[in-house]
Amino acid sequence: MKSYLGLGTNLGDRSANIRCAIDMINEQAGHVLACSSFVETEPWGFVSDNAFLNAVIEIDTSLTPYELLRVTQGIERSMGRIRKSINGNYSDRIIDIDILLYEDVVVGEPELTIPHPLMWQRRFVYEPLLEIAPHLKTLSSHP
Ligand code: ADP
Ligand code: MG
Repeated sequence: MKSYLGLGTNLGDRSANIRCAIDMINEQAGHVLACSSFVETEPWGFVSDNAFLNAVIEIDTSLTPYELLRVTQGIERSMGRIRKSINGNYSDRIIDIDILLYEDVVVGEPELTIPHPLMWQRRFVYEPLLEIAPHLKTLSSHP
């Protein structure tokens, strides 16, 4: 099954965080077929260290949507824990993995909403998404 995942990070070595998440997704969730450019998202007037780096990947997975959510949340936790053990009382998350699309499946639960409800409102999501999936442009005007 084809799925698109949105990745975001605003702490540490952001490129390395995204590459690490992609490697873990490739091992645990499914073969990574495509990866967008890494897009810098401007901070809103606070320290520039908090600027986000975002990317979107396409994967081929045999997991169900809920299994995919469980695995990606496990990757978020494991990357957070690595960071925590280095920095002590560290609270920010260094990686966010969102399921944007999963084939043409629609899920409407609070714990899992697909398509991701804000994907067509967030430029840092839809720009990298459309870079690797230009055929989805027809969907973007019908969120
Ligand atoms: P955000 O991504 O909005 O910054 P979180 O990553 O903390 O926030 O996610 C909060 C909750 O959103 C998660 O516990 C998860 O169950 C839920 N969620 C709902 N839909 C999705 C989705 N499509 N992808 C990832 N998480 C989702
Ligand atoms: Mg998230």
